[in-house]
Amino acid sequence: MNHLKKISSLLVIILIITSCGPKNKKLVEEITPVNFSYFIQESLIEPIKAEKYTLSNGTKTDCYKIVVKSIPHEHQMGPWCPTHLKDSKEKGGIWFEGGKVYDVDGHFISNIGAFYADAKWDLYHEDGSIKVTKTQQECEGAAKPNVEEIYKNHCVECQPSFYHDHLTTYYIPIKPIYQTYPSKLRRGIVGLAFNGVNFDPPAPTTAILKAHTLAPLDDCGGHVNPHVGYHYHAVNGCTKEIEQPDGHAPMVGYAMDGFGIFATFDSKGNKATNLDACGGHEDKTRGYHYHAGEPGSNQILGCLNGEYGKMVVSH
Ligand SMILES: [Zn+2]
Ligand SMILES: [Zn+2]
Repeated sequence: MNHLKKISSLLVIILIITSCGPKNKKLVEEITPVNFSYFIQESLIEPIKAEKYTLSNGTKTDCYKIVVKSIPHEHQMGPWCPTHLKDSKEKGGIWFEGGKVYDVDGHFISNIGAFYADAKWDLYHEDGSIKVTKTQQECEGAAKPNVEEIYKNHCVECQPSFYHDHLTTYYIPIKPIYQTYPSKLRRGIVGLAFNGVNFDPPAPTTAILKAHTLAPLDDCGGHVNPHVGYHYHAVNGCTKEIEQPDGHAPMVGYAMDGFGIFATFDSKGNKATNLDACGGHEDKTRGYHYHAGEPGSNQILGCLNGEYGKMVVSH
């Protein structure tokens, strides 16, 4: 009887090993190292160099150290908030709700109470001018979890010029290390575009809306906060892309674990299939990689499947 038990538990162990083994092996074989030449030279404060760095799970490994200012070179930043109810969509950015993207124009602002079925919205004055945070003090009073009372019911925008002295340093593993469990990154960042601007986790829309504030993104999916400066919450096709000869979605940047991030749609306009919870899958050409969520989803990546490095902002 004891023998039988031993044999059956041995069988279970063998089964576990064989069911995990080949999958991990395949992933390890198909890992594509980071190609630092994809990053836009003009964005770099100093040449990218390799440096030993300790990753999230304690592995000390060769990482690329990338130092940038969080300013895109391929596109302009803003606008975010329109200033008057008469403003057309060119004067404002975008907002997302229920998976959809909306233009933040004067009409959107005037209609927001009905849009959210909440009569407490009051984003404009009687003369039709919109309440927008203008100074650094105003933006910082509004762009935080506990919005100061006087800045409730404002369209919130911070100017990139307020944080001109910020310097952003990324450490990402040159050879990504796949791990068997995903890491949720609610704080911190999920990756970066080739222009050095970071991809943020989802914007905290519940807290933003609860204070009756709106923090629009510009048409490229970015806005400014006091902590990291200009950053993206959506991949909208504004930044440098590496086209894929086989029609696969173009590459748009790297995740903090060193795996590539690709656009949502391929050259035929189809979404990638078989994506895991983090938005990743693998193929023969690219190995394991991620696809950005749709622009209206408020989620570029759901989580990371690799050990990740760090972004440090110095003020
Ligand atoms: Zn944000
Ligand atoms: Zn893919």
